[in-house]
Amino acid sequence: MVLDAAWAVKWLNLCAEAMAEHRVELIELDRAIGDSDHGENMDRGFQAVVAKLGEGTPETPGAAMKLTAMTLMSKVGGAAGPLYGTAFLRAATSLGDSAEVDPGAWAEALAAARDGIVARGKAEPGDKTMVDAWTPAVEAARAAADGGGADLMAVLVAAAEAAEAGAVATDPLVARKGRASYLGERSAGHRDPGAVSSALILRAAVGAAA
Ligand code: ADP
Ligand code: MG
Ligand code: MG
Repeated sequence: MVLDAAWAVKWLNLCAEAMAEHRVELIELDRAIGDSDHGENMDRGFQAVVAKLGEGTPETPGAAMKLTAMTLMSKVGGAAGPLYGTAFLRAATSLGDSAEVDPGAWAEALAAARDGIVARGKAEPGDKTMVDAWTPAVEAARAAADGGGADLMAVLVAAAEAAEAGAVATDPLVARKGRASYLGERSAGHRDPGAVSSALILRAAVGAAA
């Protein structure tokens, strides 16, 4: 298995499928602590990414992610559009024009994405945002890739599982960033929608490599 441009295109298509499939769930999560639009925003954004990918095949994973960044920035809006746009752009820059992604490069691309989200949104771990999915994903991917010779699939799975656990772990947290923070203590007891969509994106990366 290689993580090449074809893998990246499949990944982004699976992201679109996941957002369509989980649209209502993301809307319900955002209804509880936000403004009910996260599922719609993400579904619309990734449908636009699929349309863009249909116009011509990117030559590298980085190129596919750059195109995704530009599309999400212009189509998603709200808080998530610029945050995901920055995440995909930083990851694309981290991958450069390599034809294939190796385990270490995937871990570092995730770290670049997370750092971009933090630079843009200024959230810290524990603030009940998508950072709470990305930060454990980065740590798990780095640990799995550490020392080289790691199995690609193991690194992809480690990141996805850590993001999923990170999303679940937002349940008891009180939001300190974004719209949910307006609710103060009342935001506790609900899962952060952006952490859930982030986990869906990282799970789709596994599916594309399977
Ligand atoms: P909006 O809140 O503008 O309606 P969305 O509903 O699409 O945007 O996205 C909300 C998600 O964005 C939240 O669930 C959270 O994960 C994420 N988010 C909001 N603000 C921040 C921030 N400052 N840093 C990181 N993530 C954030
Ligand atoms: Mg919203
Ligand atoms: Mg909104």
